[in-house]
Amino acid sequence: MKKILLGIMSFLISSGVFSQDNFGKLIFDNYGKYLEKSIAHQYLKREDIVPIIENLKSEKLFEVSKLGESVEGREINLIKCGTGPVKILLWSQMHGNEPTATMALMDMFRFLTASDDFDEIRKTILTNTTLYFVPMLNPDGAERFERRNALNIDLNRDALRLQSPEAIILKNIRDEIEADFGFNLHDQSTLYSAGVSSNQASISFLAPAYNWEKEVNDVRKNAMKVIVQMNKVLQQFIPNKVGKYNDTFEPRAFGDNIQKWGTSTILIETGGYPNDVEKQFLRKMNFIGILSSIKSIAEKTYEKESIDDYYAIPDNKRYLFDLIIRNAQVNFFNKLYTVDIGINRTRRYEGDDKTSQYQGYIAEFGDMSTFYGYDEFDANGMVAQPGKIGEKTVKLKSKQIKKLHKEGILAIPIDESYESNYTALPINFYNGTAPEFKVRLGAAANFSLVNEGEIKAVVVNGFLYNLDMKESNVGNGIVIKGKK
Ligand SMILES: [Zn+2]
Repeated sequence: MKKILLGIMSFLISSGVFSQDNFGKLIFDNYGKYLEKSIAHQYLKREDIVPIIENLKSEKLFEVSKLGESVEGREINLIKCGTGPVKILLWSQMHGNEPTATMALMDMFRFLTASDDFDEIRKTILTNTTLYFVPMLNPDGAERFERRNALNIDLNRDALRLQSPEAIILKNIRDEIEADFGFNLHDQSTLYSAGVSSNQASISFLAPAYNWEKEVNDVRKNAMKVIVQMNKVLQQFIPNKVGKYNDTFEPRAFGDNIQKWGTSTILIETGGYPNDVEKQFLRKMNFIGILSSIKSIAEKTYEKESIDDYYAIPDNKRYLFDLIIRNAQVNFFNKLYTVDIGINRTRRYEGDDKTSQYQGYIAEFGDMSTFYGYDEFDANGMVAQPGKIGEKTVKLKSKQIKKLHKEGILAIPIDESYESNYTALPINFYNGTAPEFKVRLGAAANFSLVNEGEIKAVVVNGFLYNLDMKESNVGNGIVIKGKK
């Protein structure tokens, strides 16, 4: 029975009976076969993808070449496959700390070299299109998990001045092949929402404008149509979590210029998804989105889409915070005022350690009734008091730390020989002069929430610990380095 079903399935696929939506569903179910398991982490560096690219050199399907080098001498590769007349150029991670699509491209190589029920689709793609992949355009930024390259230049503001070798590489390859379609692959803040809602914008799209008037010619129109079909496919898996990026013309950006130079350009921005810190589910969404688009370009099915459906995708909005403390009382000049406190956390990596750490700060202050938090806490009737500073080191066991929390102590001294800038424990360390915490806009988020003299909850480095609950949100602390 199973065999017959499989037979029917492969007949349906090969005869093109499956719509894009069904294709997306089948790819979703079979994704495990194409997952490149050697990479699974946001802190993705050039050295992580080198073995994968090296392996492609022995595959007949691919031509691997060197396009050039980054400022610090890291190689940037072009991986080419297919023989078709429609040229598609895909580049990822021009911002070093935006790696999700690079992982999806590694999955794409596995898909293209596999052989299974999708063979007809592979054949259609490889005979109708030629694919040009440039994964990890900014390997120096990736090395440090930073947006910019080693010249401190944002490559996406260097499309005209072309000072960075990485920008020159992208411009040259675009001009050399005069691609029909371009995929500009990024990550965006996890704090974008799809429209005015608490829905994260897990994936956002843009067909960038090529002038201030935001006119729509055939080049841009085709990008919009590809986005429409991609949105339909992804809505099955991330309903209401797809957004549309702002299309204000940016004369210095690559997407806008590549659109202007005649390549239908599709920007994909990967945002956040609940409990997907390393974005492995969103990597899968990237893979499905990009693959279904390539299929649709190869089969020209995108042509029948309407650009009205592009404009109907909700706009990216900034309505989300990592944590909102609502209705807290805050003391200013010996008087209490009611405010909501919006807290965000910046993600950092240190050295070769693949575990990320966060730094929390107060990002908004006042009436935040129009905003949403991933975590929220109602501090009605409570006063937000700055965290106290401990005088002596204690045994760093969870019991002792909870005791400190109950006393409102949110930083303790640490020996100067402690080198790291972070601790995995829910307390801050300091060396040298004792720090002073404040409950103010822009300050580090370290305060207690006090109800009639009793501490109900503490916020340590932007993470909430509800002292009435056994286990609450667990985060890290930071090391505050004072004067010696
Ligand atoms: Zn970016």
